Amino acid sequence: MDESDCIFCQIVDGEIPSHTVYEDDAVMAFLDANPLAEGHTLIIPKDHYSTMDEMPDAVGAAIGRALTQLAPVVENSVGANASTIGINNGEDAGQEIPHVHAHVIPRTPDDHGGSIHSIFGGTPEIGDDELTELAQDIETRI
Ligand code: AMP
Ligand code: ZN
Repeated sequence: MDESDCIFCQIVDGEIPSHTVYEDDAVMAFLDANPLAEGHTLIIPKDHYSTMDEMPDAVGAAIGRALTQLAPVVENSVGANASTIGINNGEDAGQEIPHVHAHVIPRTPDDHGGSIHSIFGGTPEIGDDELTELAQDIETRI
């Protein structure tokens, strides 16, 4: 995708309006236009990266810092005590807009939403030996 066609780049550039709640050199946060709950906020890098692996460490750190600061503020603003924080990282994970964005969705006891675990139907059978092997494999790739 050309960055000039990217909705979130256009929001960063002020070409598309947004309900912005936070901005610094690297990061911008604004209310989701189709909120899953009151206060649903998106946090994005200002530069265009399609998925997390494309982001330099410093940008990832800036996103993490903004999440840490903003999540409790967003929760407080709508009277929530919790939030689901998630990134659909890639098309197979349900990412529709190919510009990295973290969702902060305030949660309340009666919102009928589930946990992140409820996205999946169940847990695949993976034995302890396989977990050990997998952990080693991942560790050596980092
Ligand atoms: P995802 O499926 O993770 O790519 O989510 C994309 C999110 O962007 C959805 O929750 C949309 O409601 C939201 N969205 C799409 N267009 C806009 C927009 N112009 N301003 C704010 N949020 C938007
Ligand atoms: Zn973009």
